[in-house]
Amino acid sequence: MPQVTIERASQGPSHLDGKRSYDYLIVGAGFAGSVIAERLAEGLGQNILLIDRREHIGGNAYDHLDAAGVMVHRYGPHIFHTNAQRIVDYLSRFTQWRPYEHRVLARVDEHLLPIPINLTTLNTLFGLSMTEQEAEVFLAERAEHVALVRTSEDVVINQIGRELYEKFFRGYTRKQWGLDPSELDRSVTSRIPTRTNEDDRYFVDTFQMMPSQGYTRMFERMLDHPRIDLLLATDFASVRERVKYKQLIYCGPIDEYFNFCFGRLPYRSLRFQHETHRQPQFQPVAVVNYPNPSVPYTRITEYKHLTGQTHPLTSISYEFPCADGDPYYPIPRQENTDLYNRYKALADDTPGVTFLGRLATYKYYNMDQVVGQALALYQRIELKVGLDSPLHEEAVK
Ligand code: FAD
Ligand code: UDP
Repeated sequence: MPQVTIERASQGPSHLDGKRSYDYLIVGAGFAGSVIAERLAEGLGQNILLIDRREHIGGNAYDHLDAAGVMVHRYGPHIFHTNAQRIVDYLSRFTQWRPYEHRVLARVDEHLLPIPINLTTLNTLFGLSMTEQEAEVFLAERAEHVALVRTSEDVVINQIGRELYEKFFRGYTRKQWGLDPSELDRSVTSRIPTRTNEDDRYFVDTFQMMPSQGYTRMFERMLDHPRIDLLLATDFASVRERVKYKQLIYCGPIDEYFNFCFGRLPYRSLRFQHETHRQPQFQPVAVVNYPNPSVPYTRITEYKHLTGQTHPLTSISYEFPCADGDPYYPIPRQENTDLYNRYKALADDTPGVTFLGRLATYKYYNMDQVVGQALALYQRIELKVGLDSPLHEEAVK
């Protein structure tokens, strides 16, 4: 079984003795940092020091066995889905997969209803037995035409009208983001389609599956490479002057890298309350959403549905959105994008550093998009190296 060698900065590891020199220092061992580390080590023979301030690899996709022996995702449910064959092919070098189609129910009034809204949702909620065609007419009659769809409110109102918006979207979004949907970019609620058929899958991507032994095991295999040294519980600030390296790839928050010189980019955080229950099953599907504003959490996840694990007990987590804490979600709003663009301009003028991943590029990306971003960066570096060896710092720009 492959095992990644892990050291911690506090132990004074040899990586920091100043004698060893790395081609790349990579900050952040989530998808972004781990994929680019593996590619540069394996594809271009580069020597890598990969660090993370957390005690573990995998970033927000980290999973582990809890005290009861149930596999859980420490930072909330992570479901892999993509349309990109090349991303599946790449990750399949490090994991096998278990087929899994994600289904979510929303607790609305006294019902547990499919979300995204579909024919079953509408018929159950309104006590009807419409056909698909009738449901289309039903929604068209409720939809309020919005001439210019700009916000997350516009998206939903324009598709399904105010009543369904209030029941399924407004409360959830206000809790999740601490903002009204009218204050959020349309991209946020655009993630959720509306259907008039009975398809109750959360995603319709070609590939929907979970790493069969979990994300962390997949990352262990990815990083099990003689040219990759890994330092955990190690903040960039504590090593930046102590390590010799030629290039830096930074996957942390971009505003933090620049000491918040233009002010803080807003991120939304979450508090997870993990619990184990003395019963084999807690709820009928992996995730139940709670759009009701009087409930303080947004959703409950039961992990055994995702992992397929058989266990006499079950573990769940509640998600309580909050302003302070680890930066999980960049908040898509024009004024935040404008602020990010100022940091981006500074980043473009900073030689020797490349910014990669959800936090460093301030994008609300899914895992497959971050893998795609890392693979694209690798291709640019590879191309540049092929054209122009030895490596120049412009290669990674
Ligand atoms: P991260 O995973 O955040 O990794 C960045 C790493 O950098 C972290 O480990 C951090 O500790 C480290 N770091 C930051 N700053 C420093 C520093 N100064 N020094 C050292 N280390 C540092 N995507 C999906 O595709 N499907 C899902 O179902 C899904 N569900 C999600 C649920 C939640 C609750 C959240 C928050 C996200 C979800 N995502 C999902 C998105 C997914 O988590 C991200 O796309 C992915 O993890 C981004 O990878 P990353 O490497 O860019 O960032
Ligand atoms: N959303 C909602 N009600 C739901 C599910 C989603 O209002 O029952 C909105 C909410 O604003 C959320 C966004 O749609 O942030 C995107 O949902 P998704 O499940 O993709 O969020 P994530 O998995 O990124 O937390």
